[in-house]
Amino acid sequence: MKTLTVKVGDVLIGSEHPIVVQTMCNTPTSDIDATVSQCRRLAAAGAGLIRITTPSLQDVEALGRIRTFLHSDGITTPIVADVHFSAEIAKAAVKVADKVRINPGNFHADHARARVLFGEFLDECKEYGKAIRIGLNHGSLGKYIIDRFGNTPEAMALAAMEWIDMCIEKEFYNAVISLKASNTVVMVEAYRALAKMMQQRGVVYPVHVGVTEAGNGDSGRIKSCVAISTLLQEGIGNTVRVSLTEDPEKELPVGYYLASRYGLPVQEGFGPTDEREIALLKAACDYGRPLLTREIDDVDVTVPSIPNLRDELLQAARRRFYKPEYIACPGCGRTKYDLETTFNKVKEATSGFKDIVIAVMGCIVNGPGEMADADYGYVGEGAGKVTLYRKKDPVLRHIPENEAVSKLVELITSDREERR
Ligand code: SF4
Repeated sequence: MKTLTVKVGDVLIGSEHPIVVQTMCNTPTSDIDATVSQCRRLAAAGAGLIRITTPSLQDVEALGRIRTFLHSDGITTPIVADVHFSAEIAKAAVKVADKVRINPGNFHADHARARVLFGEFLDECKEYGKAIRIGLNHGSLGKYIIDRFGNTPEAMALAAMEWIDMCIEKEFYNAVISLKASNTVVMVEAYRALAKMMQQRGVVYPVHVGVTEAGNGDSGRIKSCVAISTLLQEGIGNTVRVSLTEDPEKELPVGYYLASRYGLPVQEGFGPTDEREIALLKAACDYGRPLLTREIDDVDVTVPSIPNLRDELLQAARRRFYKPEYIACPGCGRTKYDLETTFNKVKEATSGFKDIVIAVMGCIVNGPGEMADADYGYVGEGAGKVTLYRKKDPVLRHIPENEAVSKLVELITSDREERR
């Protein structure tokens, strides 16, 4: 799909350019040394863009210093500020970051006010020559959008089009759009709908594609590759992130596998080297699209080192569920606990349940809103405490971390017994 070209620092994003593989820091932004070190490692591992969370104005200042340190080391990988809820922080970030990721609908509870703030933000980006990403997620569409359009893939695309139209009206073309979801079917349909709407509008912005809260390990990789490879085969996707609840360095080889398979000239040293991982990614890309589009109903694939590969592929494409569906955010500077270890404990303790969706989220600020259609949520509050959710309702608050996994199991078990 032919798109505009967006310039982020020295990196060009769009159909005339190779797919850009990106990732995000999971260090606290205020810990400048740790974040600079992580950025160095990510840049060396091939990150085309590095996103950093900026929950406060102090974090914006820290991001500016981090970028300056990196530049003084000769590392010019563009730095993207990740902003939620605050137009003030977004405007401040324009001055120090190469690109700012926002969800404009979250700028203000009052939609008309959010539009005004978004317009001011675009003026600021124009003045400083910066790029933006309009990033909507299925889990956090907001009441205004759901009331107006429903909670569907088309609603996500329509919601994005409102902000895209504002960009066009203001002649602002340095924007990338994303519509992530943890549900692979919803994610793929949302991007397809968006591509169609932008083509009908006659202005096609580049898109950043990814499955949000994909989890970790084999499942996270397979889920991401099933959905992202489907879109890349259809010419949708100019930059990718494979979000894993792991060290962000591990996201990059998977992103490079996808990018090199569907467009990027192969870059030595950045793709996966482990034979098992390559077999897993290949199977996800080979079978993902035929399963998602229902061209096939089953797969006949055997990789001895991955005995449950068939089950994982079918579950990733949402054709058959053999275990709980897990949603876990990748973690970022807002995460105040060991997310990866906790997620693995939750998976181990709940693997016997079927037909439920369990979310494990890194922070209480965005986690609950991003859990989408999870039946249960484990959300870290920080300071060693956890809140457990049933659907969108917090049912057990401030539980000590060392008791939280067993409390979650008790909660699910007692709900099941009550239903009998
Ligand atoms: S939900 Fe996870 S990735 Fe999102 S802001 Fe919170 S900790 Fe970061």
